[in-house]
Amino acid sequence: MPIESWRGGEIDVAVIGAGAAGVAAARQLQSLRPDLSIVLLEASSRVGGRARTIHPLGADGVALDLGCGWLHGARTNEWTGVAEKIGLTVDRTPAPWSDGGRQLEAADPDAKAAAAATADFFERADAYDGVVDTDLGAIVAPSDPWRERIHAVAAFVTGAELPKSSVIDLGRYDPGAGPDWRVREGYGTLVATYGQSVPTVLDVEVTRIDHSPADHILLSTTFGELKARAVIIAVSTNVLAAERIQFWPPLPDKIEAAARLPLGLANKFFIRVERPELLPTDTHAMGSRLDRRTGAYQLRPFGAPVIEAYFAGDLALDLERQGLDAAFAFSVEQLQHVLGADIATTLSPLAMSGWASEPFVGGSYSYATPGASDLRGVLAAPCNDRLFFAGEACSRARYSTAHGAYETGAVAAQSVAKAL
Ligand SMILES: Cc1cc2nc3c(=O)[nH]c(=O)nc-3n(C[C@H](O)[C@H](O)[C@H](O)COP(=O)(O)OP(=O)(O)OC[C@H]3O[C@@H](n4cnc5c(N)ncnc54)[C@H](O)[C@@H]3O)c2cc1C
Repeated sequence: MPIESWRGGEIDVAVIGAGAAGVAAARQLQSLRPDLSIVLLEASSRVGGRARTIHPLGADGVALDLGCGWLHGARTNEWTGVAEKIGLTVDRTPAPWSDGGRQLEAADPDAKAAAAATADFFERADAYDGVVDTDLGAIVAPSDPWRERIHAVAAFVTGAELPKSSVIDLGRYDPGAGPDWRVREGYGTLVATYGQSVPTVLDVEVTRIDHSPADHILLSTTFGELKARAVIIAVSTNVLAAERIQFWPPLPDKIEAAARLPLGLANKFFIRVERPELLPTDTHAMGSRLDRRTGAYQLRPFGAPVIEAYFAGDLALDLERQGLDAAFAFSVEQLQHVLGADIATTLSPLAMSGWASEPFVGGSYSYATPGASDLRGVLAAPCNDRLFFAGEACSRARYSTAHGAYETGAVAAQSVAKAL
């Protein structure tokens, strides 16, 4: 159906991108201004963006998230309340890295020293008071015996190798108070279910936004043109920086901000375990302590016969390019080292994310390059009270998270409600 035929080709508000931010923006706007007509335009064939749940063991099997999985800052995380309201199950099992969380490494005599060195690193970033921003590599001493562990853990957080990302930005990161919980049905299921009541057009890519006319904004899409009074743009920074959406008149400040807040990379790889009784449930293991090129492994999430491997930074990109077999070989070698050689006979590859090559996303979560942390505000600023921006990268402190994305969507919706 050509988009022109949709409501006669005219709409009050078009929200571009049905990820956590776009869905939250549309839902918030529906409740603030039921008088407005709203459409969510999504380039891919599903709602959720980087929130995506799969069921590789069958519809009744465990729900696994290829993207966001943890409700960080769960007590103050807007998605926690949404999950409970729509009848999904919030699982409060302590995350492996929090108090009460289970770690295979806990029995290791060096584990405390490694954890203390990593905690010191994050404290140094929090306390950094240099006038000039620097890169995270600069706050790790080359002589630190735990530097490889620090590089690995920091890459899990930012998605980037340390020399690429800003100390000030990491110091500002604050997911909010509260522990980390999960949604049993999956974070992706949560976002998609919440979006169900929003009029949505899938498989439609917005390619141009002409905001030169005084009385409307003209959207060009792969299915034709649509006029809107206001537009919320909730796509990733890599999509904006690649200028997959052309603005007329151009918005060079936005493009520059997006380019300097690129997406880092983290990928998940799920491994099937034939003999799950060999492994403890919901327990965390690191593949290596002495090499930054390591996976983090969550053994039997929710008790399922599965291991969830997590790779970040350059390693994640290399394994994504090499494919499933390479990721499996890498993981098996690391897991044998940690769990014993025999474990290999019980493992087989199940599913893997490939966020760098997702065409309408292009990575996992945003980090700031040195000096770019304040550009999150530039990215988030509305243009002439008609173009509004949302998405995790717009959040000053909760960037890189799905609840940060939610909050930026809610703010954009409030601004639209006021402006129209
Ligand atoms: C492996 C991994 C693990 C993660 N773990 C966590 C976690 O545990 N907890 C957490 O809080 N966060 C986590 N995150 C981050 C979280 O998933 C993201 O921050 C959040 O989902 C981003 O939402 P968004 O709405 O900003 O962007 P997106 O989800 O990228 O949504 C943007 C949408 O816009 C669409 N789009 C793009 N271009 C166009 C166009 N031209 N026209 C129309 N539509 C377009 C895209 O298809 C996409 O659906 C993780 C991410 C990954 C990848």
